[in-house]
Amino acid sequence: MTITKPLRTWGEFKKAVAKFSEEFYHCKEKYENCIRWEGGDGAFEAIPNALDCKVFHMAGEPYTGTLVNRRPDLAVEFQNEVKKFGFPEDMCAYMRTHWGSILADKFVTANGNEYDGYPLPDFYWQTHACCSHARWFDVASKLIQSKKGANVPVYVVDVNVGPINPRQKRINPEKVDYIFNQLVNGIKWLEDTTGYQISDKKLIGNINNEIESTRLWAEIMMYQQNIPAPLDEKMIFPLFTLAVQARTDRICVDLYRKLLKEIKQRVEEGIPADPNEKFRIISDAQPPWMNLDLYKEIRKYGALFIGSLYTFSIIGAWEFVNGKMVPRRRPEEAWGVDLDSWESALKVLTEWHLKTISMGPATCMFNPPSTRADTLSAIADQWNADAIIVHLNRGCEGLSLGLVETTRLLKKRGYNVFEYEGNCADPLDFDYDGTLNRLFSYLETRGLTPIIERGRSIVR
Ligand code: SF4
Repeated sequence: MTITKPLRTWGEFKKAVAKFSEEFYHCKEKYENCIRWEGGDGAFEAIPNALDCKVFHMAGEPYTGTLVNRRPDLAVEFQNEVKKFGFPEDMCAYMRTHWGSILADKFVTANGNEYDGYPLPDFYWQTHACCSHARWFDVASKLIQSKKGANVPVYVVDVNVGPINPRQKRINPEKVDYIFNQLVNGIKWLEDTTGYQISDKKLIGNINNEIESTRLWAEIMMYQQNIPAPLDEKMIFPLFTLAVQARTDRICVDLYRKLLKEIKQRVEEGIPADPNEKFRIISDAQPPWMNLDLYKEIRKYGALFIGSLYTFSIIGAWEFVNGKMVPRRRPEEAWGVDLDSWESALKVLTEWHLKTISMGPATCMFNPPSTRADTLSAIADQWNADAIIVHLNRGCEGLSLGLVETTRLLKKRGYNVFEYEGNCADPLDFDYDGTLNRLFSYLETRGLTPIIERGRSIVR
């Protein structure tokens, strides 16, 4: 019988992600001249990370997602702080957790270490796509002002340029220019605010790293088409978190190259994520981070989450060739443009980033439900999924927009779809046992039965 093996690179990923958050917390004690900034995972991080000094940054979504997963006890405490302050529970759950962390004046690293005193950022740098993005850091700045009396300036880039269909080869130049001009103003703002200059060399290097990290991620996810899959989605989450947090860093490129080599080898040697894989599932967006055991429990039925629109495409760069999703070619090859000056590199980044992170296939702020259904159907077909499981996520109004309509379309097209309601980051707003029971019943309606070996469940 084929057996699975642990990933050799696993520990390196865990260490790298933890190091970023520890360094973010401790950098001001260690370095006299350094910058510490925060923003969202869709921020154009290549730019502030090119300031000519040591730069440390933390993205709000991976900070809170990891926090909720590692320390659900603190996530509950933070949610309660926010509620006490008067913010309603139907706002973005990542945002509320982040605000709660500021209000409780506590910081939690990716390892789950808890520190007293929320670290003061030098500035917030953010993009605005969903209705919460800009206000998230505007309010964070006001909370810091009221708690610590410090002024943390905020710069937001509006990326709301209307629909961007993932099948579209290029983005209209006027849309790119609208964002490019804000980024050029942002460079001046960063230099005036911090007193440091943007280094052209660092900027071009960061942009190249972002392009490579996101291309490599798509290449790694291509191997998930293999039956059996080399990874299950519970393993994918910590691997993809590195690029969500640090895609412009050389460490990310190097680790993804190493991971790609390992995954290729796993597939060649027939090493599966789960030797009992019988039923392949694609999901749509963020999971309930506090209850990832859900992903382990369904393996009792031989069912396996092999990926999602979210993990494939938030930091994966794709293009459609002959109706198939393939890793996007480098801009020099695909678009005939070079990254030989800061202007050309920044223009490339604007378009690349829009098509990937800030307005890519996983976002649905402007594309109609049919576009999202098209991408989900393409993934389900190409990755040989038996079902699509949709998380009706009350914690993210951004990625849940039009989700019910998307689900209806998928069902009409004949896909097996299971929906559950939950929350990506509020442990008080998810019925884990009830969801698991419904999910087990669904799997039984698909003809699956629990796999029992030697009188006990196979799941370790
Ligand atoms: S897209 Fe979702 S998770 Fe991101 S800021 Fe908007 S509501 Fe929050």
